[in-house]
Amino acid sequence: MTKLPLIARLAGYRAAHASGKPRQLPINLTVSVTYSCPSRCATCDIWQKKVDDLSVDEYGRIFPTLEKVPIWVTLSGGDQFVRADFDEIVRLVKKQIEPNIINIPMNGVITERIFQLLPKIAEYSAGAQLVLNLSVDEIGEAHDEIRGADRNFEKLKLVSALIHDLKKTYPHVVLGVHTVISKLNVSRIPEIEREARAIFQPDSYIAEVAENRVELETMDKDITPDPADYRRAVQHLQNAIRGHRSTVPVARLVESLRLEYYELSARILEEKTQVIDCYAGWASAHLAPDGNLWGCCVRAESVGNLREHGYDFRSVWFGPRADAFRASVRAHECACPLANASYTNLLVDPRSLVRVAAHMAGM
Ligand code: SF4
Repeated sequence: MTKLPLIARLAGYRAAHASGKPRQLPINLTVSVTYSCPSRCATCDIWQKKVDDLSVDEYGRIFPTLEKVPIWVTLSGGDQFVRADFDEIVRLVKKQIEPNIINIPMNGVITERIFQLLPKIAEYSAGAQLVLNLSVDEIGEAHDEIRGADRNFEKLKLVSALIHDLKKTYPHVVLGVHTVISKLNVSRIPEIEREARAIFQPDSYIAEVAENRVELETMDKDITPDPADYRRAVQHLQNAIRGHRSTVPVARLVESLRLEYYELSARILEEKTQVIDCYAGWASAHLAPDGNLWGCCVRAESVGNLREHGYDFRSVWFGPRADAFRASVRAHECACPLANASYTNLLVDPRSLVRVAAHMAGM
């Protein structure tokens, strides 16, 4: 099946948002394959949630109903490597959805399983870009403390060495480092960014603000940094990008999007409003481990469970509960700096796209 050109899809989302009627499936899909996790992060209590995870067979019924529309699929958790069949889920994503990008955030804790599955995941994902983002929230034992996992930082070094090794055989593999900026580390972002780059030698370094999310059971946690502190942290990250611009077009595009995202997320924290329209529920979606479909993980409101709808994504996505969610988002009843949704929001917003193009040109 030929995918509709991205530019046509983006125009379609804008038209659908204006009319309130969805006409397309999402281009950006997150699939959380489990809530289970051995880490006990200060910024996340997702591990406390217990549900009956979708099986590989169930994913095999759901994914074809996405009609190969998603171009960017994030496979998230919990810790995905709790599941011995995680490689099979990646294989199905590649075969049945055919996204351009498969993104896997990794805590690097269950090293034995990671060493067993990651080479197969690299093999199965060939043809897409496989982005493996290591979660690094501090350096050394300070990281282990925030993440509530013994020797986690040392294990991350082993996993990053494995990924560097896989990159020699599989050029589609990209190593990223990802930091959650919280009250616990916001004052040290310049040091963390510099040291993480030196230790892990990633292809990319990204950061996201710690938020109160229903998905993560963090609604009562005091983790989100003060907006002024966050702005100082992202100004450092913006300067770091500007100081090392890539000459490779795809990498330069990602950097340009990130420059714009850091500005957008800082403004959302300061202004507490949707600075640009959110397209969660139109362009992006989140499938929970138990088959519930959400517009986004911040609200984590089920618009229907795929198990109760014959595993048919369309029947839930175009159903009345999803319409109600979209109406609420369209009325700006919520606002947040969630990076995953923000990237597609930036692509759909014409003025942001112009600024991204200016960043591309080095302006
Ligand atoms: S603004 Fe945030 S909370 Fe609201 S729909 Fe978008 S991603 Fe979800």
